[in-house]
Amino acid sequence: MRFSLIKAVASFALIVSSIIGLTFLQTDDQVTVDNVILMIGDGMGTDQLTAASYTLSDGSGYEELAVDQFPYIGLVRTHSNDHLVTDSAAAGTALATGHKTDNGVIGKAPIKEGTYEDVSSIFTEAKSIGKATGMVTTARLTHATPAAFAAHIDRRKSEEDIAPQLLDDETDVLFGGGRTYFDDRDDGRDLIAEANQLGYEFIEDVDNLQRVDGTDKVLGLFHDSHLSFELDREETKEPSLEMMTEVAIQQLSKTKDGFFLVVEGGRIDHAGHDNSPADMIQETLAFDRAVQVAYDFAKQDENTLIVVTADHSTGGMALGYDDDYHFYPEVIQNVTRSVDTLEDYIKKEKMDVQEVLEEYAGIEDVTEEEVDRVEQADSMHKEIATLISERAAIGWTTHAHEAANVPLYSYGPGASQFATTQDNTEIPMKMRELLQLHSEERVD
Ligand SMILES: [Mg+2]
Ligand SMILES: [Zn+2]
Repeated sequence: MRFSLIKAVASFALIVSSIIGLTFLQTDDQVTVDNVILMIGDGMGTDQLTAASYTLSDGSGYEELAVDQFPYIGLVRTHSNDHLVTDSAAAGTALATGHKTDNGVIGKAPIKEGTYEDVSSIFTEAKSIGKATGMVTTARLTHATPAAFAAHIDRRKSEEDIAPQLLDDETDVLFGGGRTYFDDRDDGRDLIAEANQLGYEFIEDVDNLQRVDGTDKVLGLFHDSHLSFELDREETKEPSLEMMTEVAIQQLSKTKDGFFLVVEGGRIDHAGHDNSPADMIQETLAFDRAVQVAYDFAKQDENTLIVVTADHSTGGMALGYDDDYHFYPEVIQNVTRSVDTLEDYIKKEKMDVQEVLEEYAGIEDVTEEEVDRVEQADSMHKEIATLISERAAIGWTTHAHEAANVPLYSYGPGASQFATTQDNTEIPMKMRELLQLHSEERVD
């Protein structure tokens, strides 16, 4: 009697637990999402984000960034196929295709030493199942990160060859820089005219961007090369990353089958290569404002996954050095132009070094020794960046990239799957599951 009661209780418990187990399995399997916004801060590690949040505050505390609202945080390993320190081409390819490749290679994976085959991008796959697609960057559209989503080439430097490939995919929204590779080409092709024939509306300034009404595909080229650094940007001429992201979402969300949007803060990396802290931090803040726009949309929409991450971090930036135990964000707050522009003021406009440093770098007590250093420097903008770094107590270890894992923030359906330490190649694999992109859609 007692034995059969135990047996009954045991089998009841077994049934209940398997139902619970099944339910968990089912809900995990059933998570799907209509829209994905993948946001990449090129060169953005945790130090860049930390510096940005201190700089945003009045100097006495920590101000919340848009990414700080995200419920899930993970880490991403970034090494490439042939280097522990990746470049943006290999990292972009990993994020776009789920394949490791060699540094310098875009949209292709290695077969054997030195030879590569095209691999399918989640971006093109999304298009093939009827989703609208968009690409927004502050860099040239032909630069490694955006190119990795739509081009296949084993030399990232061949930007003239990348440009026509960007138009092949019928991408609905293309906003960024790099106009030179579209209409001032060695082969004489005019890709802007070709884009018009393919049904694109071409825009080149803020006014036109604000008037985009969603009827056509849009190609927006706002600079011959990269867009200006945020510190130099003229608001009436060049759009912010935030504005481009907002218009892109407006356009893409008109499609009922959902969309896939890639947004790159492309110049965090460029400032990192120059070890220029104010530029790097202001680019990070500009990227974070674009994150806020995406977050506001996703919160309302409830069917959008946002993943914010980086391809790698740049510069080996450290906040505080030696035994000083200080970092001075107020130094960063006082810088009002990029170090490139400061160099132009001195060299091209023949302005006085001390005056430039006081007026635009916010250094009020410039020493004679500092003025000498800037005047005699081989690279004037890098020397000014060093001065600002010293004043802010920011250290750097490299003018290139580093191997450290980068942060990942996620929000929306399926976001919890990214709250772990993962390889960069796993990110598009998880997104494929969530978007229900099956292997048939891949055109490897
Ligand atoms: Mg990039
Ligand atoms: Zn770089």
